[in-house]
Amino acid sequence: VDKVRVQNPIVEMDGDEMTRVIWKMIKDKLIFPHLELDVKYFDLGILNRDATDDKVTVESAEASLKYNVAIKCATITPDETRVKEYGLKAMWRSPNGTIRNILNGTVFREPILCNNIPRTVPGWNKPICIGRHAFGDQYRATDTIIKGPGKLKMVFVPENEEGPMELDVYEFKGPGVALAMYNVDQPHVPIHIVFYYSYDYKIRASLRYEHRLIDDMVAYAMKSDGGYVWACKNYDGDVQSDLLAQGFGSLGLMTSVLLSGDGKTLEAEAAHGTVTRHYRLYQKGQETSTNSIASIFAWTRGLEHRAKLDGNEKLLDFSHKLEAACIETVESGKMTKDLAILIHGPKVSREFYLNTEEFIDAVAHNLESKLQSTSL
Ligand code: NAD
Repeated sequence: VDKVRVQNPIVEMDGDEMTRVIWKMIKDKLIFPHLELDVKYFDLGILNRDATDDKVTVESAEASLKYNVAIKCATITPDETRVKEYGLKAMWRSPNGTIRNILNGTVFREPILCNNIPRTVPGWNKPICIGRHAFGDQYRATDTIIKGPGKLKMVFVPENEEGPMELDVYEFKGPGVALAMYNVDQPHVPIHIVFYYSYDYKIRASLRYEHRLIDDMVAYAMKSDGGYVWACKNYDGDVQSDLLAQGFGSLGLMTSVLLSGDGKTLEAEAAHGTVTRHYRLYQKGQETSTNSIASIFAWTRGLEHRAKLDGNEKLLDFSHKLEAACIETVESGKMTKDLAILIHGPKVSREFYLNTEEFIDAVAHNLESKLQSTSL
């Protein structure tokens, strides 16, 4: 079968630790054997971010806006321990935060469903996708400890000639805490982007929009069977996406895409981190069984967007076949340990799961037979 030609480039953002190891296997075994692809490569591994004073992150985000498709591997967000571990010049900011700010986007997280993987919430038969406009609120709040009695006020000083506006907030009789937070006058999650995503991923055949308060929505979600996009404020989106990841079974089955305000630029990645625990085993030469599905879906979701922008049917077909190959591999009983645990319990024996590379090989094998049997 001939390779599929991709007319326009994609931006690749390489990452860290176990996901970097998986990333290379995915490219070598699932992507490059089948696609003729112009890749604009940016190494967002922690050492290169440090060497470039984090300029590489900004450049990769700018390239994403230029080429409209970015595919990202998980990256370390440094804390004090990481600064020591890698001897970093600074505690560089979260690459995801930097990219999000430049793309000014909405993050959508969606679970990948496999029939044989039990769900903590068994009624969730269809995906529930979270849309989170990651801006402001608690994450940019100014907070303080109140040491003793006194008046808490909030002051706004307008840029024009009008005098400052002063609001009484609370009269403290003793110690306590206070915080001020803000957001700007635009919807937390732009509705047109939610519709764009819903339509693109065929979440529901006929689209409708409902507004619900968060307590009502949480109750509805628990008893629903899924099949909708849940647009959340920043904090709610953060909390509820972890609840959904757990409810659907595994972090290894959660995709994440960032869609820019105009719907044109898409950055795709796995929702999970660099799987440090497995990387420590890998470094010691021990066997690992890391789930690569969400990282593979970063590639398929990015390539699917490329296909839609370019009107490339063959590429669209390839992305769909690669996604199906992943799901069918799991449904045929071949899976990594995290999923085998969900079926067989925490003491699952070795015969019930594959190691990291064996799983990718099994997907590659499935993909090849799909491509050969029904090539367009
Ligand atoms: P993690 O997502 O890497 O791991 C959390 C837990 O889930 C671990 O027990 C891990 O073993 C398990 N897990 C996650 N993905 C798995 C997979 N594909 N297969 C099997 N098991 C899987 O999060 P963490 O351990 O809190 O963080 C590790 C590093 O990742 C940190 O340096 C953090 O900064 C970074 N991180 C990056 C991103 C991102 O780039 N989007 C997101 C979260 C964390």
